[in-house]
Order: sequence, then structure tokens, then C-alpha cells
Amino acid sequence: MKFFFAGLTALLLTLPTGVLGQLTAPVPLPASKPIKAKKPAPRPVPRKKTPLASVAAVPAGPVLTVPSWLPPDAPDRPAAAILTEVTHTKLDVRFDYRKQYLLGTATLTLRPHFFSQNQVVLDAKGFDIQKLELVGADKKHPISYTYDKRQLTILLGRTYTRAETYQLRIQYVAKPNELPLGGSDAITSDKGLYFINPLGLEKNKPRQIWTQGETESSSCWFPTIDKPNQRMTQEINLTVENQFKTLSNGLLVSSKENPDGTRTDTWRQALPHPPYLATMVVGDFAVVHDDWCGKAVDYYVEPQYAGTARATFGRTPEMMEFYSKLLGVDYAWEKYAQVPVRDYVSGAMENTSATTHGATIQRTRRELLDDNYETGEATIAHELFHQWFGDLVTCESWSNLPLNESFADYSEYLWAEHKLGPDEAALVQETKLNNYLDEAHSKREPLIRYRYAEREAMFDRHSYDKGGRVLHMLRKMLGDEAFFASLNRYLTRNRGTAVEIAKLRLAFEETTGQDLQWFFSQWFMQRGHSELKVSHTYANGQVLLRVQQVQDTLFQPVFRLPLSVAVWGGNNLVTEHKINVTRTDQTFRLPAAQRPQLVKLDPDGQLLAQLEEERTPEELTFQFSHAKGYQQKAEVLELLQNKTNELVISMMYRAALHDSFWAIRCIALEHLRHYRGPEPEAVRRDILRLASADPVPRVRAGALRTLVSFSDNKFGAAYLAALQDSSYLVNATAVECLIKTPGVPARAPLAALDDTPSVALLLALASYHAQYGTLDQYPWFLRRLPDVSEPNLYGWFQSFGVFMTRIPPVERDRGIRLLEDYARNSPNSFVRLGAYRGLMALLPTSPQVKSLLQNIREHETDERLKASYSLM
Ligand SMILES: [Zn+2]
Repeated sequence: MKFFFAGLTALLLTLPTGVLGQLTAPVPLPASKPIKAKKPAPRPVPRKKTPLASVAAVPAGPVLTVPSWLPPDAPDRPAAAILTEVTHTKLDVRFDYRKQYLLGTATLTLRPHFFSQNQVVLDAKGFDIQKLELVGADKKHPISYTYDKRQLTILLGRTYTRAETYQLRIQYVAKPNELPLGGSDAITSDKGLYFINPLGLEKNKPRQIWTQGETESSSCWFPTIDKPNQRMTQEINLTVENQFKTLSNGLLVSSKENPDGTRTDTWRQALPHPPYLATMVVGDFAVVHDDWCGKAVDYYVEPQYAGTARATFGRTPEMMEFYSKLLGVDYAWEKYAQVPVRDYVSGAMENTSATTHGATIQRTRRELLDDNYETGEATIAHELFHQWFGDLVTCESWSNLPLNESFADYSEYLWAEHKLGPDEAALVQETKLNNYLDEAHSKREPLIRYRYAEREAMFDRHSYDKGGRVLHMLRKMLGDEAFFASLNRYLTRNRGTAVEIAKLRLAFEETTGQDLQWFFSQWFMQRGHSELKVSHTYANGQVLLRVQQVQDTLFQPVFRLPLSVAVWGGNNLVTEHKINVTRTDQTFRLPAAQRPQLVKLDPDGQLLAQLEEERTPEELTFQFSHAKGYQQKAEVLELLQNKTNELVISMMYRAALHDSFWAIRCIALEHLRHYRGPEPEAVRRDILRLASADPVPRVRAGALRTLVSFSDNKFGAAYLAALQDSSYLVNATAVECLIKTPGVPARAPLAALDDTPSVALLLALASYHAQYGTLDQYPWFLRRLPDVSEPNLYGWFQSFGVFMTRIPPVERDRGIRLLEDYARNSPNSFVRLGAYRGLMALLPTSPQVKSLLQNIREHETDERLKASYSLM
């Protein structure tokens, strides 16, 4: 699964408490993700704690300080005991759209795992059980069952040994919308089965049905043993209205039209997989066909995206080839399909041979210009790699989730490295390292967590970003040949089974002959990361390199870190030394004929750590021009940003504006905002040129943002010209610049964009009208509302609220009623919050809103929203 970390909790953490807080959308717009080069500032973490025991012995002594990132104690989570195995599941399903029910018959083939059993307990959430029988029932031994709406306990009438299989047939009704609510930031809902626009009443939204099994929600739509250490083959017979396409795991083996105008599609998967990977999608899709080694590779898209499906998904066969070769294990499943669905509850999900994506992965031609690796192709790579790591070999319990997610996360790096080059790969590495380090401020957990409060909490920056970086270090330590040979052993030995972390360690140890207990222990079983302080001196033909580990070592280990150090001697010659950091304070002696120009620890940026290296500005400018790749350049641009008034450093930033890698140009632009250094006019000219002529839309947009930061903002003509740019991102940025540049006659060129299909641009226009609008734009807000997709309504409604303060109070009724309706009734908590904040904007000029807000607050049921309202 891939999640986009824009959950409500994350949003609430960033909410300003003022009435007219920021008017930005919380959800990343396509391609507008800012380039982040910031290393999070190390938090002052107190070191060398006194253990509790000595506190008791010396009451007046120092007191144990527990770090704020240490999670509270949580219950032990062993893997589920396997008493009975579900070996095959056959489902016959049809749907009641009006009630949003699934009407199903499940025929399950079961057998005791090892110990003989006289009963079986099935997960079945919120069903009506209409009939339950043993197939080929033996009259002498009648079965019976009890049901508590979560589990079915079936007494089998006699004892079965592991040599015996039996079949249960269960006729049931699944009622996903009548289940109690659950969910998390990663997977925002857990009802398993979703009816989208079931009665066709919502404008601009197709009718769809889809499922989401992970973690344990497949049992919301069929009875099973809903644990990742189960494995079953599967057949699903879906009866649907003839106009709809269906998609499920495995192959479509038959499709039969029924006399009542419906059609029954039979999907069968011959290879066993865990229940959480079962899927079913129904809707109006165009299917674009591709092929890999004779296996079908299909892209199911909404019909209007048929023309761009290949531009979005077309590299899938090449990826299948790349990963198959890299792992020495061919893509195993019968076909591979991908389908974007509406109102999806996460980023994407690796259902076996049939990945589900969120609808936003579908792009028009123009939107593709602003495409973004992380939310586009990286997601395709991530879910595909899961078909090996997760689907073919599965974590036996959610405690071992990194065995699925760390690999999928790392696949994004692998594809970037292979297809897009070392700089793009380094950007992935840096972004993901920072994602983890950000999370580590508030939470540090072992990757493998046998204790956790809720299994959904396993889907975090640890299981993904940290795990991916740990795999990268393992690869770099062992070398590519050993790393991929070990993965081959892990996959071939454990194919079709559920595993725990020890299996991965053994595969690496058996392949390489090395004892890797220490590596797996410090990186998978213990929490935290190293915080390194590095300095050096030079004397008598030696560099004395001091490396200190300054992290809290009571709650985190002292890490063993095999590292490289690059030393640039005279004449720009570089020598790489290997060192092994094992203690909290070590000094290494490295031979060097003369005082080095630069000493750089971890010159390839492989280490998962917070690194603080002492370097002079001269050494840093040397690093910029001599060190390898994106990360080392980006670091220098970050560290010297406050010195751009010095000529040499200013020249370095100007050189960075012409770097061959777009992300370096973006970072340079970011740090040239408010520039007051030498040759200001020449710098402005360079930036102006990038704003119109750079080939990458993100750079053009970045240049506009830098131009608008200058106090003598006189670039109105550039913003107006950028309204004509081919990129929506650049158009939207130009509108934002115009907001900050009053006096530019923008009304007519903006009116020409009134009917834009781009949501990013719509949001920018709404912000503009919130600032400068007149009654003339009121109908525009009302007319375009249905075109703003759900999470983006958060920003839209806030702009709308501020806009209404600009029109006469007598005109506002309709708008206030509309905001009230969404603030009370939207099923999406983001949207309710946005509408509420829109109403708050009206408070100073429409006092009657006060009692309305109070009433909405009183009726809100979401605890997080209630807490947030009480702060506003
Ligand atoms: Zn994943």
C-alpha cells in the first residue's frame, strides 16, 4: 500500500488557530510538491540518562528523562495462531445499490492446520447470516454456530484431522455502511466495501464499487480467517449490470449474460494468496491492453482518460521486466491490471495481480506536463514490487509489515536509479530520509514492532521510509551482487508463504556467509538512528577525523556504522577511506600528503543518520563544484543560504541556476528569494529567463515565486505571460503571484481562465477572488463548486468564506447555507473542516454565523475535529 501522508491528524497539527489562517489546500496538488532540502534541525535530546535504579538509590540525584519520542507501552502482538486454514474461497456476489448491501454466497474449503479441530472461527463483520451449511452434510453430526457480528463460531459436529478437508457454504448479506467507523491516516476507513455514487445522484462522479482489504477488512465482504498468515486460491462470480466492467484477482475465465439483463463474470486465481489481497472493482472503465511475456497487462481507466492511460501506466511492462531480472524471479501472477477508483481511502493498494490506485493518478495531456514522480510513476513501481514482496512472500503479522513496505518503498529508489538516473534517485533518497527524520521527532519505534497500540499505526514513515533506507545501507554494505542474490534466495525459499524478519536475515546470511545479526538487530529490532558530529584537523601528513555519536544511547543503541570518507587532497584528487564507527567517540587517522581541500563523511549519502559535519564556507563551495551528485550539492545550497551577499557564494548560486538537474535549480531559486547580494539586476534577469524558458514546469513556477519575493516586485508582465504557459502549475503559481502584486490589470486575462478544468488553477483563482473579487464572481464560485474534487474543497471553502466578506451581507444567504450544509453533512472530515473555517471567515461581518458555528460544533462527532474546533 502506498499512502499520501495528508491525513487529518497531520493537517490539524499544522492548523493556525486564527480565524483567517492560511488559505491553502492541505492536500498536495499535482506536481506542486515543494522541493525539500532541509535536514530537520536536531532536537536537543538530553544525553546519558541516569537509569531508574540509581534514581531510587540516590533520591537527590538526576531524574530519568524519558524522550518525547518514546511511545507509550502497548500490548504484545503475536502472530495469529493458525488452527484452521482456508485453502479455497468461492464467492457468488451481487449488489443492492439502494441499500448498499452485498448479497453473497461463500463456499469455503478448510482444513485443520496441525492439531485436530471440532470447530472453526471465521471473521465476518456485520453480516446477516441467512444460511450456513456443511457441504455434503453428514446427518449424524449436525453443525451449529453462534455469531456476534464480528466472528462466526461454527461447531463442526465432529473432529477433523489435518488430513481431512471440509466445505462450508454460507449465504449472507454484507452491510459495510452499518459497521462502526474505524480507520487511520494511512487507510482512512476500514469498512472493506465501498459503493461510490450508488444511485447516480452525484454530478461529475461515476458509479463504482470497490474493496479495500488491508489490514483486516476483507471480512467486511466475505467470511474468512482475516489474517496475513492465511493463504487461499479464489474464485469470484460477480453479477453486475451489463454496462459495467469488473476486475478481480487472477483471470476472467467466463462472462455470461443473464436473462434479466445482468451479466456474471467469473474471476479465478489459481495461486494462493492471503485474504487481505482479495479485490473486486465494478464500474464504467475503458480497458487499455499491454503485454509482458505473454501475460496481459491492463489499464482500467475512466473512459475520458483512455487516450492518456498509456502515458500514465505505459512503463509497467518495462518495470515488470526490470524487477523480474533484478530479482531473478519472474513476475508470478496470471496477469497484471491497474485500476484507479474514486474516493479511494489511501494512495494505492497492491491487490494480487490487480492493483487499485486513487483516481488522481489519471491525468489529461496537460496535467501530465506537471507529472510528479512520487505520486505517479513511483506509485506504479511501489505497488508492482509488492507483487513480489507482500503478495508472493507475505509478512506473517502486521508486526512484520516492513517485510512488505520497506521493499515496496525501496523499489521507488530502484526504478528512479535505473530509469531516471542517479540524481533523481538521490532526490528520492533524500526526500525519504527526511520523511523519516521528521517523524522521528515525535516517534521512534523499532521497524519490527511486536508491541503496538493499533495495527494501522504500523503504516508510518518507519515501515516505509526508514525501512527503505535500511535496505539501501544493507545493499551498499554488501554490494549489488550479494544483495540481489540474497533477495533471490529469500523469494525462492519463501515463495507462497508468510514470513517473519528472521527469514530475511537467514537468506542474507546463507547467501553471503556473514553473520548479520548485528545489522538486523540495530536496524530492524531496535529503535532510533545515529546522530553524528564530525570534525577534522590536519597535522603531520594525517587527517585526524573525529566522529561522535551524540544520540540518546539509553533508549537507542550505539550504532555500528561501516562508512566511507572521501578526502580531496591537492590537485582535486579524491581518495576514499573505509572506517568502522562502533563507539560514541572515535578518532580516525587518514594519511594525506597535504592539507585536504575537503573531507566528507558518507560522500554518496547512503547513511540513515543526522549528520553534522564541521566545514568552512571554502570547503563547502569546493564540495559544490567537486563532490558527487545531487545530495552533496543540495546540502551546500542549504547550508550557505544566508551568505549569498558574498561574491563567491553568490556566483555559486548563479551557477546552480544553470545546473543540469532541475531540483538543484529549484533549490537555488528558493534560496535566492529576497536576494540582496552582488549584481542584483543580473540575478533577476537570470531568474526571469528561467520563469519563461526553463523546460521543467516546477522550475518555471519556482522562478515566479522567487521573482514575487523581491521587494521591488515589478514583474507583473512575467506573471501575465505565465498565465499562458502550457503548465497548469505555472498558471496557478502566476495567479498566486498576481495576488501579491496589486495594480496589475489582471481581470480580463484571469476571466479567460474561468472555465479551466484544472483544480489547481481553480483553487488559485478562488484565492485571487477572495482577495480582489466582486459580486460578479459569486455565480462563478457557485457554478464551479461541483468541479472541485473532495479534499480540495477544504481550501476552496475557505476562499469562498473570505470572498463573501467582500459582497453585501444581503447577498450572502445562499453561500452561508451552502457552507453550513457541507460543514454539517459532508462525509469527508477535511471538507467539513474547510466549510467550518469558511463560515468562521464571515464571523466579523456576519454575526449571525456565531450561533450557527456553535450548533455545528455541538453536532460534530469526529473527536479530532471537535478538539480542533475548541482551539479555534
Ligand atoms: Zn506499499
